[in-house]
Amino acid sequence: MAFPDFPFPAKEESFVHHTDVLSYLEEYTNHYNLRQYIKFRHHVEKVKPVDRDDGSNGWAVTVQDLETNTTTTSFCDSILVCNGHYSVPMMPPIKDIDKFRGQQMHSHDYREPEPFRGLRVAVLGASASGLDISLEVASVAKEVLLSHNHPVQIPSELPPNIRQVRGIVAAYEDGFVFGDGSQADADVLLCCTGYEFTFPFLSEECGVTVENNIVKPLYKHLIHTAFPTMAFVGIPFQIVPFPLFDVQVQFFLSSLKQDITLPDKTAMDQDTQAAFAEHIDKGKAVKFFLAVLTGDVTPLTHEEMDADTVHALQRLRCSGGQDRHYHRMGVEGSVRYMEELSTSAHLSPVPSYMLWFYKLVFMRMLFSLLTIKQHRYVVEAGGRVREWHNGREVNTVWNLRRLVVVQLMRLMWRDFWGVFSFATKTLRKYLGL
Ligand SMILES: Cc1cc2nc3c(=O)[nH]c(=O)nc-3n(C[C@H](O)[C@H](O)[C@H](O)COP(=O)(O)OP(=O)(O)OC[C@H]3O[C@@H](n4cnc5c(N)ncnc54)[C@H](O)[C@@H]3O)c2cc1C
Repeated sequence: MAFPDFPFPAKEESFVHHTDVLSYLEEYTNHYNLRQYIKFRHHVEKVKPVDRDDGSNGWAVTVQDLETNTTTTSFCDSILVCNGHYSVPMMPPIKDIDKFRGQQMHSHDYREPEPFRGLRVAVLGASASGLDISLEVASVAKEVLLSHNHPVQIPSELPPNIRQVRGIVAAYEDGFVFGDGSQADADVLLCCTGYEFTFPFLSEECGVTVENNIVKPLYKHLIHTAFPTMAFVGIPFQIVPFPLFDVQVQFFLSSLKQDITLPDKTAMDQDTQAAFAEHIDKGKAVKFFLAVLTGDVTPLTHEEMDADTVHALQRLRCSGGQDRHYHRMGVEGSVRYMEELSTSAHLSPVPSYMLWFYKLVFMRMLFSLLTIKQHRYVVEAGGRVREWHNGREVNTVWNLRRLVVVQLMRLMWRDFWGVFSFATKTLRKYLGL
């Protein structure tokens, strides 16, 4: 999905190569004559707030020119932090991992499947990277153990040498133990477990902290509540990047130009706390449901189910794990977020097709992973989304309904006893039997 003011060049495929994205960004830069403002091979070393004579605050930015090895400090009125968050790998703690004799790596260092030819590869994590990499590696590997804690298996058809297993809980010399107690040998551990937010160039005076993967103190995941002339673009993840970045920047510019008035610091912090509380409630409820399904949490007996305390107790029992997904937005969350920013800054409305289109691609990812990238989409002027596959137009709604039913039946077929035993176990615990 493109920036709203510059479409992607028309192409046959909808899922373009990363080199096409780079060309698009270069064309964007040329079209708006932006290159004159960009300094390549300059490393930002330090950003520090400074007080000015008129009582306002500005920023001292120290930059190293990597060509000449010289360092300069400049002053500016406002600052956009856009350093990305896909470069510092997050490696999960795994019990006894030092005993594992195989190779360990993170998706950050993955380039191509060939080095995994004939090997047994444990891929930890089944989000975008985990799924993409599993499919590629499966084309050459002996076996891929796709390890995740989703409540049920990925419904989509997968290559026969991909085996879905529960999350890794421990390692031994030749392999791993999974959440359900089973174990399997592996030659490689490939962690697709995401990345850390880091801002090594922000001085302590900036007061920015990252706790449990939450960047604080930000209003709307964007504006520093103590220094509203500093904004962080691109903190949310599981989003549609370019359109969302565009809305974030427009919102920040509106506040700088004083087209909108930001609430005071206390109100911004309260807004953030409310958003966080809402996230936790939703997250914990889902987490609890999943944890009960997988048997990781003991549900309350009927005696304990006092109307006022049940939620608190249940949340307490499944605490942890969700807070760190505060910046994860997903399908509905990111569209709602973009609408919220657009409405409050009186920007152009988010196109009405966005939610449907995003949901459609998400459903395809879930239910037809093997063919998703062969689908082609065209958004017509009126916002109607048309879809083609193998040169023929698809009746999307009917096709999706059929696909979902078929894949869910397959899932029941593949994992019937697993699903059945979880359901029975859960019911028995609830009934106190
Ligand atoms: C494997 C992978 C696949 C992806 N696939 C997709 C996809 O199919 N579709 C999609 O929409 N998104 C995809 N994404 C996400 C997408 O790449 C990001 O959303 C997007 O790149 C974020 O843009 P950004 O400008 O915020 O950060 P980045 O693209 O990470 O850019 C940050 C820039 O800041 C620079 N920088 C950092 N620190 C400093 C410093 N101190 N001084 C100077 N410069 C600095 C970095 O060098 C970098 O150039 C993928 C990401 C990954 C990792």
